[in-house]
Amino acid sequence: MNKGTIEYPMQKRKIRLIIILTLMLSTGFLLTSLASYFVSRASLREEIMQNELPLTSDNIYSEIQRDLLQPVFISSLMASDTFLRDWVISGENDTKKIVRYLKEIKVRYGTVTSFFVSEKTGIYYQSGGILKTVSSDDERDKWYFRVRDMPSDYEINVDTDMANHDTMTIFINYRVYDYDGNYIGATGVGLTVYAVKQLIEKYQDKFERKIFFVDENGIIVLYGSGFSSDLKNISDIEGIAPLAMEILSTSGNSFHYKKDGHSFLLNTRHIPEFGWHLFVEQSETKALKGIVVTLFFNVIVCVLITSVVLFMIHLTISAYQQKLEEMATLDKLTGIYNRQAFSILFTEMIKEVHRRFIPFSVVMMDIDHFKLINDTHGHIAGDAVLRHLASVTRTVLRDSDLLCRWGGEEFILLLKECRLDDAVNLAEKIRKKVEDTRFSWLGTELVFTVSLGVSQWNLLDDREEDSIVSRADKALYMAKEQGRNRVVKRV
Ligand code: GH3
Ligand code: MG
Ligand code: MG
Repeated sequence: MNKGTIEYPMQKRKIRLIIILTLMLSTGFLLTSLASYFVSRASLREEIMQNELPLTSDNIYSEIQRDLLQPVFISSLMASDTFLRDWVISGENDTKKIVRYLKEIKVRYGTVTSFFVSEKTGIYYQSGGILKTVSSDDERDKWYFRVRDMPSDYEINVDTDMANHDTMTIFINYRVYDYDGNYIGATGVGLTVYAVKQLIEKYQDKFERKIFFVDENGIIVLYGSGFSSDLKNISDIEGIAPLAMEILSTSGNSFHYKKDGHSFLLNTRHIPEFGWHLFVEQSETKALKGIVVTLFFNVIVCVLITSVVLFMIHLTISAYQQKLEEMATLDKLTGIYNRQAFSILFTEMIKEVHRRFIPFSVVMMDIDHFKLINDTHGHIAGDAVLRHLASVTRTVLRDSDLLCRWGGEEFILLLKECRLDDAVNLAEKIRKKVEDTRFSWLGTELVFTVSLGVSQWNLLDDREEDSIVSRADKALYMAKEQGRNRVVKRV
């Protein structure tokens, strides 16, 4: 085959096809991956908001109920206990009696404290004796005056217990009335928040959810670890603050909010027995991690599949392209370039000559009396002669020279960076070699000669292929006229 390369327009079309396929495949894959990501995300959010968080909330609610309802019940019994009421009504004589009573309650029910505060005297009795006299000026006694004026029978209050080294305690504060319905004081028990806190921790650890309790004014009353104690009210929490009014006025709902760029899902539930709202919150960003990893995995698989498919398409197209190019530009009989290829190569050569102004030459070669060879030895022999001539000519050419079959028994040579005289010398070399080479075909020696016409490109030719070729053709005609087996040049 000839040396030299040909730039085919098909190459550009192949690149365009590959780009279009890449875009189509990657867009398709990306859209399906994203669609499945969004569907999974929506169903995960739905599952968390509609099932998981409410379920956690239900469980906590029932456990807290179990833990707190008993002390509420005890306090209720204390408030309606005739001994307590009679003792108060009869003038609070003999402190020992009430202290023994409170001690009995504390020991029997395992509470941290038990107490009674008299409205008449303001004395705070507890299981260890008289603690103090409450005063409306003392910040720590505020709770009593709240209970005295509250419309409901009892409240649950989380506070520090003065009688118990100021440990955080859940107090059940129950209003006590005499037999005529007059308010005579507050009684109740206190229990450590430890058990409730443990419950919160258990749920936090198990489900990676944040759990806390909020009273009806939005004040955060009970929370687990990992909760900033600077946050006193839900209106301090970014993201929840705008929802505060809605949360506190409903008996329970699901919410979705953003904080520090992260997405959170929240379930709230009103606990009427305690007047609290239970908050169960989960980071959606964390829950989505698995889905995000799946999305990345999908994208990587898609990229790999797309690359493999495109690589295979590229290989297939390239193989076909090469075949087609060969069919389109190579002469079937001799395997050298055909006339179409000559045109493409000629255009390339012209471009280069215009860049560098180094002339090239063209040689037109024709077998002498070829018709006779065909007539004498047959067409197959003629074909063999054509193949033989192509291979003999190639042995004389330089790497940069191009040999093409012009048609029939005519060949054309494109000699790069070659002036007329050098081209004539080369043509003469070919002529001599053909004349001297003995070609044996099926035992018969076929002797033949060639005539060659040489021309050189000049500025007047500009970009036209015809003029330089026709000069070479005319030179060839002259060679034939002058008796064949010779080289003629034409300027
Ligand atoms: P001249 O010296 O004037 O060139 O004489 P010629 O006989 O070579 O020229 P002519 O143009 O009269 O004949 C060329 C012949 O080449 C005629 C045609 O049948 C034959 N020919 C053209 N192509 C092929 C081919 O592919 N194979 C064979 N075997 N013969 C071919
Ligand atoms: Mg001819
Ligand atoms: Mg001929």
